[in-house]
Amino acid sequence: MDNLLFGLEELGITKTNGVDIFGEEKGDSRLKTKIEESTVSEQKESDFLFEKTMTCPVCDKSFKTKQVKIGKPRFIGTDSDLRPRYEGVDTVKYDAVVCLHCGYAELMRNFNSISSRQIKDVKENICNTFKGITNELGEYSYPAALQRYKLALYNGVVKHSKLSERAFICLKIAWLYRAQIESLSKDTEDYAKVAREYAINELMFTKNAYEGFFKAIEKEMPPICGMDETTVNYMLSDLARRCQDYENAEKFAFAVLSSRSASAKIKEKTRAELEIIKKEKASSNK
Ligand SMILES: [Zn+2]
Repeated sequence: MDNLLFGLEELGITKTNGVDIFGEEKGDSRLKTKIEESTVSEQKESDFLFEKTMTCPVCDKSFKTKQVKIGKPRFIGTDSDLRPRYEGVDTVKYDAVVCLHCGYAELMRNFNSISSRQIKDVKENICNTFKGITNELGEYSYPAALQRYKLALYNGVVKHSKLSERAFICLKIAWLYRAQIESLSKDTEDYAKVAREYAINELMFTKNAYEGFFKAIEKEMPPICGMDETTVNYMLSDLARRCQDYENAEKFAFAVLSSRSASAKIKEKTRAELEIIKKEKASSNK
């Protein structure tokens, strides 16, 4: 299978090939690490950021992580799969928090929600050999943000976090690849080839997000990752369409349209989604 966690080798985490992202109780891979050198870029995005001091629930040490200033960037809207867009800053980049000392990584909202058993899992599988990561100056580059997210995903695997939580990390990684395509300069050497590579990665993580959420709704009750049932069904409809699973895409969309609790706004969005599904389905049958 593809190595979804490629890119962690630079952090020295090398045993990720063949990792089952949604495996329940698997592996006790010992990780080797080395210090990563990250690229630094200077852009206006840094004006929206501040250094937040965090205390790690795994190693109890404090460290700084970049966060987006609340209320500072202007919200523009969302993509059809709910990816948020803000003017001047990609807020998604800053949601995966990594302890610079021990390698524990999670999305900000779940960072402190860790049980003693999970702390043990992370210590044994990640901290034991992790040698540190640097807090770059300025904004995160996309490769740096992706590396943090993949480390968060790997943490999710070793501590057996909820399927939906792992799926959400996969979805956000897909968003980062999409953003990377959008930010790619047309003057880039081999532009088409590079953009295609990012698009393949985006789709690969979208498929994993879809698979993870699909499994999660059988085991977990809403709210799922902060989303109510309607929002989850809408999102699954879009993810299914992106994965060309048109039958389920329609099924999830109809679930939204037939829901009594769904708002008029999300039903309208879902009707627009259904139109796209129909068009794509028709062209895929040609
Ligand atoms: Zn730590």
